[in-house]
Amino acid sequence: SVPLGYFGGLGAASRNGILIKGGNYLEALNHIDTFVFDKTGTLTKGSFTIEKVSGNNTLELAALLEQHSNHPIALSIVAHYGSENLSGELDQVEEIPGKGLRGNYSGKELLVGNARIMADHKVDIDSEDYPGTKVHVALDGQYEGAVFIKDEIKDDSRDLISAINSEASSQTVMLTGDQRSIADHVGNELAVGETYSELLPQDKLAHVERLAETGRKVLFAGDGINDAPVLARADIGVAMGALGSDAAIEAADMVIMSDQPSKILVARKIARKTRALVL
Ligand code: ADP
Ligand code: MG
Repeated sequence: SVPLGYFGGLGAASRNGILIKGGNYLEALNHIDTFVFDKTGTLTKGSFTIEKVSGNNTLELAALLEQHSNHPIALSIVAHYGSENLSGELDQVEEIPGKGLRGNYSGKELLVGNARIMADHKVDIDSEDYPGTKVHVALDGQYEGAVFIKDEIKDDSRDLISAINSEASSQTVMLTGDQRSIADHVGNELAVGETYSELLPQDKLAHVERLAETGRKVLFAGDGINDAPVLARADIGVAMGALGSDAAIEAADMVIMSDQPSKILVARKIARKTRALVL
């Protein structure tokens, strides 16, 4: 059981925009030595700018399907296109975590997502080099083109990672479903200790399990539906509440009500103070 004094700590956290679902998690924060982050929407803004589009119907088809997703990519494409312009018969929509979406558009199969979902459906894609994310679109097995989008690193993430890196006993890790070139770029920019890319949701979970098995005390911060199992498995799961999916918020032990991952360190400061008071 957790001493009553922890209620004070939970209140202080909540006044700082951090929701903690129990005093035990506040106490556990004192013991975290491995800080693991999802990339998109957690360390990066997750509000993508659309830089160009190839193909005539690509953007409209992408927006049509992305209306049904809460992924940061989906929200950005729909916002750019304008949801009022969307019409068309669409059903049987299915989100494929780490890959994209499929649906039935007037009897034809519509696919939107990365190279992986296209390969799964044997659709050949263009191989143009682009230093960002390409969202591919295919209709009825025919490649339509891609929406070229770009994300930005949060300034707040720079402060956070450098603060953690300055602690001798703490380690930083980034896990992402995104492609290697982008992940490595973000990882290098932020000086994250270890970066793992092109991961499916189950691969993220396996990484966190491996860390826990080697005795690390793991905090994982993420925002997506596909992050829910990882949030549940980590010693402390932190959801980014500003953009986070309901599933992530539900599975998390701690919710940051803004888009600032550095609130993790604010929470830990409160945890330390609380501990000093109750012990
Ligand atoms: P991250 O681990 O960085 O949060 P995800 O696992 O959510 O990334 O997604 C990995 C990749 O899958 C994305 O970079 C994107 O290429 C693709 N993807 C996932 N969801 C969508 C979507 N709704 N629309 C387009 N692409 C998507
Ligand atoms: Mg994510």
